[in-house]
Amino acid sequence: MSTPGVKTIYKANLLNPVARDRVDAYSPGYLVVSGNSIEELSREDPRPRIKSAEFVDLDHNTIVPGFVDTHVHLPQFAIMGVGSGELLNWLNNYTYPEEARFADPEYANRIATQFFDGLLANGTTTAVIYSSVHEQATDIAFLIAKLTGIRAFIGKAMMDRNSPLELLEDTDASLAASVRLFEKWDGADNGRLRYIFTPRFAGACSMDLMKRVGQIAKERTAFIQSHLSENLDEVAWIHTLFPDLPSYTSVYETAGMLTERSIMGHCIHLSEDEVGLLAQNQVKVAFCPYSNRTLRSGTMPYQRLRDAGLTIGLGTDIAGGPSLSMLDQLEQAQEAVNISASEALYLATLGGAKVLGLDGQIGSFEPGKDADFVVLENKSVWEVYVQGKLVYF
Ligand SMILES: [Zn+2]
Repeated sequence: MSTPGVKTIYKANLLNPVARDRVDAYSPGYLVVSGNSIEELSREDPRPRIKSAEFVDLDHNTIVPGFVDTHVHLPQFAIMGVGSGELLNWLNNYTYPEEARFADPEYANRIATQFFDGLLANGTTTAVIYSSVHEQATDIAFLIAKLTGIRAFIGKAMMDRNSPLELLEDTDASLAASVRLFEKWDGADNGRLRYIFTPRFAGACSMDLMKRVGQIAKERTAFIQSHLSENLDEVAWIHTLFPDLPSYTSVYETAGMLTERSIMGHCIHLSEDEVGLLAQNQVKVAFCPYSNRTLRSGTMPYQRLRDAGLTIGLGTDIAGGPSLSMLDQLEQAQEAVNISASEALYLATLGGAKVLGLDGQIGSFEPGKDADFVVLENKSVWEVYVQGKLVYF
């Protein structure tokens, strides 16, 4: 455990994302950590100036900021890599039966423990998480997140229609449970834990539910996450559910769910008007290229969304995506939309931090930011630090 005032100097190759088109490389560089935070980053050996510090020579390893996964499903951890087909069949055949198991708190506890260990082992130090519909399982997820020290946004999925009976909720009960979890957990652990309202997607939620989420989130300046325009069959289905509205995005707009604290997953099949709506409302986007490829959903028009001014982060979206690794996600992003390795690294770190409004606290190495970082050896995660504390090795 790091102790306040105790300083450590890490020498390694360092990559510091500072903008979408700029990652500063230090080879070698020196990262000075004081207690929980970063004190400085330099190219010159600071040991003559800082005599009392511990020195850790990481030699030929590379240090990057802790990864931010902006879209991941905890209750799908056990079916990662299982199943095939496109979105709607995959949900009914694999995902929903697995999520129903989270009614059992013992199962919820076991999988949540494995899930958070898995995130840290992959260098993810901040994650935005969908839980199942179960209040108790979501409460357990928060408890375990707190034990691991990870920074997490967690929300109980809300589903009040078109869902299997084991998951189908009463609208009032769904809202009441979400508000209880919000009151209990939002801002807990010195703000490291946040509640995020999670109406699953317009197919599984009534307009009444979504409107009330929009209202509650507005009153409480709370975060919202959902899925938008992932798959063509899904988009066609949403049009039949809301025939009077011009687009999938306008469904969420009508509900009041498009805010600067809303994170929409996927955003693949969008018209110009829809992109405009997202940009106008400063909605944040979770880009999940590995999942999109695996479920054959299509490719998010990354450059179009980026050029419209949208803030974009990367998400693993397990188990739609087959890997909890943000390093895998970096590769998939480069391949899917032809961006540089630097831009992909930015999306996985500082870009993700911006999605959460946390770019003043995490995502790069700046004095005063949290000392959340990953030590890589041959492009694999070797050690992971959260607030200066070694949490995985
Ligand atoms: Zn998802």
